[in-house]
Amino acid sequence: MTQQASTMPILPWHAPLWRHVAAGIRDDRVAHGVLIAGTPGVGKRRFARQVVAALLCRSRADDGRACGACAGCRQFAAGTHPDISRLTPEDKGKTIKVAQVRQFSHALHLTPQYETGRVGWIDPADALSISAANSLLKTLEEPPAGCHIVLISDRVSSLLPTIRSRCQLWTVPAADPATAREWLAEQGVDASQEDDDRLRSPLAVIAHQGDEVDQLLAQWDKDLLRLLARRANPVSVAERAYEAERRLWVDWLYRRCNDLMRASLVGQEDDTAQTNLARAAQRLGPRRLEAWSRRVAEVARMVDSNADWRLVVESVFIELSQQVADATQP
Ligand SMILES: [Zn+2]
Repeated sequence: MTQQASTMPILPWHAPLWRHVAAGIRDDRVAHGVLIAGTPGVGKRRFARQVVAALLCRSRADDGRACGACAGCRQFAAGTHPDISRLTPEDKGKTIKVAQVRQFSHALHLTPQYETGRVGWIDPADALSISAANSLLKTLEEPPAGCHIVLISDRVSSLLPTIRSRCQLWTVPAADPATAREWLAEQGVDASQEDDDRLRSPLAVIAHQGDEVDQLLAQWDKDLLRLLARRANPVSVAERAYEAERRLWVDWLYRRCNDLMRASLVGQEDDTAQTNLARAAQRLGPRRLEAWSRRVAEVARMVDSNADWRLVVESVFIELSQQVADATQP
């Protein structure tokens, strides 16, 4: 559970549900078992963290959110709150086992450090094996005083009915597309290509764009290595790079240029442990790389200029491949 999110703003499409939940927390009307459901990408984990943070806060804000400043909030943010017990699969995608449920239930029965009581976090509840779910029932039926167990699920229908019936169900709604578009724009995410259906899961849109960026960076790394090995043409490498978001590409270029410089200055000790990038850097040497890094810095300054960006990108790769060719001349 990433804990820093406790004092983040309530997502706009969560607001009505949050008001309902915050009133419940304020009036001490929250059931011992709480099931937070919702389709992937609607932000149910973020919502659940905000719920848990509010339950553990000793000085909640007027809107019911955690204050972020009390001892409980600080420990929650640092991931060191003593009264939280987590129940998650030992390996991602695997089931939660009975032995884990026993440990979890045992921990919930220990005396809490704070008067706010213990909180259990089960994520994802769909991962409970049938015997694990049965073992959890006892704790859900007779929980220790002041304890809350928060279960998170993408697929409520896959939970045992006996688990569902013992929990208060809070379904985190999908976003309406207009709200999502506005919110994504505020996060700096361009959602103009997304259809309404995808916009209903705004956090999935962000995650997906993250994946796309990773793929892009991996492709550029691959191209760079091929260029350094004289196995790629600078113009076709530029072709793949120049259409990308300029700043993203320039950031990448800067980082790789620094990586190459650093690697070129390190002595060639254990060749087998070195990355291909480091080997290429040492073949080039610091002097050639320094010349190239000046070109990289020039390119970085041209991000916002009217220069023909395709030519700019080409020039940086052409210069690098010339340096590589010179370095490999006998
Ligand atoms: Zn607090």
